[in-house]
Amino acid sequence: MNREVWVVGAGLAGCEAAWQLALRGIRVRLFEMRPEKMTPAHRTGLFAELVCSNSLRGAALENAVGLLKEELRRLNSVIMSMADRHRVEAGGALAVDRWRFAEGVTQKITEHPLITVVHEELTAIPPGQPAIIATGPLTSESLADWIRAKTGQAYLYFYDAAAPIVTRESLNEEVVFAASRYGKGEAAYLNCPLNREEYEHFWQELKDAECFEGHLPEEKTIFFEGCMPVEVLAARGRDTLRYGPMKPVGITDPKGNRPYAVVQLRPENREGTLYNLVGFQTHLKRGEQERVFRMIPGLEKAEFVRYGMIHRNTYINSPRLLEATLAWRDTPGLFVAGQITGVEGYVESTAAGLVAGVNLARFVQGKDLLVFPQTTAVGALLHYIATAEPEHFQPMNVNFGLFPALTAKVRPKFRRYQALAARALRDLNSFLALNP
Ligand SMILES: Cc1cc2nc3c(=O)[nH]c(=O)nc-3n(C[C@H](O)[C@H](O)[C@H](O)COP(=O)(O)OP(=O)(O)OC[C@H]3O[C@@H](n4cnc5c(N)ncnc54)[C@H](O)[C@@H]3O)c2cc1C
Repeated sequence: MNREVWVVGAGLAGCEAAWQLALRGIRVRLFEMRPEKMTPAHRTGLFAELVCSNSLRGAALENAVGLLKEELRRLNSVIMSMADRHRVEAGGALAVDRWRFAEGVTQKITEHPLITVVHEELTAIPPGQPAIIATGPLTSESLADWIRAKTGQAYLYFYDAAAPIVTRESLNEEVVFAASRYGKGEAAYLNCPLNREEYEHFWQELKDAECFEGHLPEEKTIFFEGCMPVEVLAARGRDTLRYGPMKPVGITDPKGNRPYAVVQLRPENREGTLYNLVGFQTHLKRGEQERVFRMIPGLEKAEFVRYGMIHRNTYINSPRLLEATLAWRDTPGLFVAGQITGVEGYVESTAAGLVAGVNLARFVQGKDLLVFPQTTAVGALLHYIATAEPEHFQPMNVNFGLFPALTAKVRPKFRRYQALAARALRDLNSFLALNP
C-alpha cells in the first residue's frame, strides 16, 4: 500500500513531517493556507517562517535543546540541515538568517518529486484519510472548529496562560514542605511559606515589576478571571493574592503554624522532577520573573525550565488524545505534530514533526509505530506530551528535568547534563540501529 498522505501546515513541523515521509518513499500532499490566508504573526508565504526570534536557542550538548538539535541532525532533519546551512553568528546559540532559512526549506520541499504543495486552507480531514495536522499555534478558525468538534470543547485551548516551571532539585528543601490543604488526600503539593514582612515585600516588587511587550494585540483582551496574570492580581490590592493564589487557609507547616501566605508548587511530571508555581501565570519579562519569584522563600535558587507566559496558542490536551508516537488514539492514520501538540518552541515543534512523519510512513507501510527511548531528548519530550497530568496540561520546552535520572549521582550539574547527553546519543544510536 502506498497511498498519498496529507500534511496540513507547512511550518516547521509540517515541512519536517513531509520531508520524512518523502524520504521513505511516501507521496505527500502538503496543504498551506498562506499566502492566500495569513495568520496574525506570519509575514510571507514562505514555509517554515520563524514568526519571532531568529534563534533556535542553545547549541551546546549540555543544553537540552542543543541535544535535541543534535538528535534531529542524526535523524536527517531537513529543518536542521537548513538551519546549519543558514546559520548566523550568535555566540552559544544557533541563530539563522530567517529569510534564507525559510527560502531554503521552501525550495527543498517544493522541489521534492513526491511532495505536492496545495495553497489552500484545509477545514477538515476526511474520515480514513491518513494525515498529519501540523497547523501550529495559530491554526485557522475553521480547522480549529473541526478539531473542537472531534475532541470536545474541553480538550482544545486557544491561549497559553502558563505559570513558570522550576526543577525540584533547585528548591530549598529546608524551607519548602509537602502538605495538602486541610490535610486532604495525598500531599502532592510543595508549599513555600511567607511571613507578613516577606509577603509585603514580595507584593510590592511584583506589582512594580516590568511586563513583557506582547507579540499580538489581542493578548490584552484575554485576561479572563480564571487565568488572570499574577501581577494583575497584585495590582488590585495588597491582599488580593492572599485571597487568591497565595491563600494560606488549611495549610500548616511541619511545626503546626499557619503561614501568612503560601505559594503552592504542583508536580508537573510523573517523576516529580519539575514543579509549577500554581496560579502564577504571568506576563512579566523573563529576567523579572527570576528576580521577583526568587524572593519567595524556598525559591531563592530556583532554576526556571520554563518561564510563565501568556500568548495565543492553539493546542490540544495531548495526554488525553495522543500516544507518544503522536498518533491520535482513537483515529488510526491520524497524527498530530508541532506546537499544537503542546510542545513549545521551534526545535521542539520540528522534533514532533519528524516523529509524526516517521510514524505516519510506518503506518502506511504496515509497520509498528516507533516510541523513541525516554532517555533521548525526542523521547523525553514526547513522553511528557503523552503522559503528563491531563487536568493541568500545559505546553513544554525540552529540558533535562524531563529525562529519567542517571543510575549514579553526578555532580556538578554541568557534568550531569553532559552524562545525560552522552546517554541520549548512545541510546538514540542503538535505537536507530534496531529501527533503520
Ligand atoms: C507570536 C508568536 C511568537 C513566537 N515566538 C517564538 C520564538 O521566538 N521562539 C520559539 O522557539 N517559538 C516561538 N513561537 C512558537 C512557534 O510558533 C513555534 O515554536 C513554531 O513556529 C511552531 O511550529 P509549527 O510547525 O507547529 O507551527 P507554525 O510554524 O505556525 O506552522 C503552522 C502552519 O500551518 C498553517 N496553517 C494554519 N492553519 C491552516 C489550515 N487550516 N490549513 C492550511 N494551513 C494552515 C500556517 O499558515 C502555518 O504556516 C511563537 C509563537 C507565536 C504565535
